[in-house]
Amino acid sequence: MTETGAATELLAMRDVRVTYQTSEGPLPAVRGVDLVVRRGEVVGVAGESGCGKSTLVSTVLRLQPKDAEVEGAVEVLGDDVQTMKWGDLRALRWAGASIVFQGALHSLNPVQRVGRQIAEPIGVHEPGLSTDAVDRRVSELLEQVGLSASRARSYPHQLSGGQKQRVMIAMALACRPQLIVADEPTTALDVMVQAQILDLLRALVRDLDVGLMIISHDLSVLADICDRVLVMYAGRVVESGTAAEVFADPKHPYTAALSGAFPRIGDQAARYSPGGLAGDPPDPRSLPDGCSFAPRCPRVVERCTSAEPPLADVGGRPVACIRAGEP
Ligand code: ADP
Ligand code: MG
Repeated sequence: MTETGAATELLAMRDVRVTYQTSEGPLPAVRGVDLVVRRGEVVGVAGESGCGKSTLVSTVLRLQPKDAEVEGAVEVLGDDVQTMKWGDLRALRWAGASIVFQGALHSLNPVQRVGRQIAEPIGVHEPGLSTDAVDRRVSELLEQVGLSASRARSYPHQLSGGQKQRVMIAMALACRPQLIVADEPTTALDVMVQAQILDLLRALVRDLDVGLMIISHDLSVLADICDRVLVMYAGRVVESGTAAEVFADPKHPYTAALSGAFPRIGDQAARYSPGGLAGDPPDPRSLPDGCSFAPRCPRVVERCTSAEPPLADVGGRPVACIRAGEP
């Protein structure tokens, strides 16, 4: 691998589309996403529940369900994941890229010590390693995520939520991947612990020189940790840029709502939605005409409903809103 160009792109998604076949017809969950993660970089994907974030994550290691059709290209470390041979894909999982799945901290085996669970992927990928060497590696991993090595002997119920999430991160690091994907890694945690986990992830990216794609429905979670942020709505990217730009100067009305820039609307339901935005994202099976955000948009005008706005340059970065350049 050379040090420049494509080789620094640990993950490259080009026009990725994912459609689920459901009993009520095709459900286009992801509708043409481009995303790149380079070495040493933290890239965030924000958007409310249902916007297609986890579906996008599932394509990174071809883990989408059978009823999902994936189009476009997903390249990890330069190889197309969606077309690669099964053996190559198996080698890539854990050792090339690893995923901390949404809700994963509830997936730890309750009757197995966490040390054994961290050791499992190591055993699969380096079957020749001695028990001692594996134990040493597990200790090292636990310390890397800020836990004492003696925690290897704990069962999941003996750990707090934050400690369990650290175990999940240790597991993701077990086979020394270059790319890590973390889907809502802090959502189940309280604010203090959330900040500690984000600090840990940021430090790991710096120290290990890996790339991190991090997903959150909460844009403010991504603001501090990310280099770049993409905002998704109804399966598409509606805005992207550096975290500072997107957070401090949101150009799409949806991003503005997510960052809390709009005053809260008085109705009760809106208090539980980001930025006081009333309603929910549309069902991908019945998208509205034109801009998918139009039915909820505080800036909507008639022409918003005639065509879906493409990502276009607004002040030097891509924004999918025909009014974004207007004062
Ligand atoms: P997010 O992670 O942003 O909450 P998801 O990727 O989980 O979004 O879901 C995006 C859309 O795809 C939603 O409309 C959801 O109902 C639908 N969906 C997710 N998984 C499946 C599946 N296995 N089969 C059918 N539809 C699905
Ligand atoms: Mg999700």
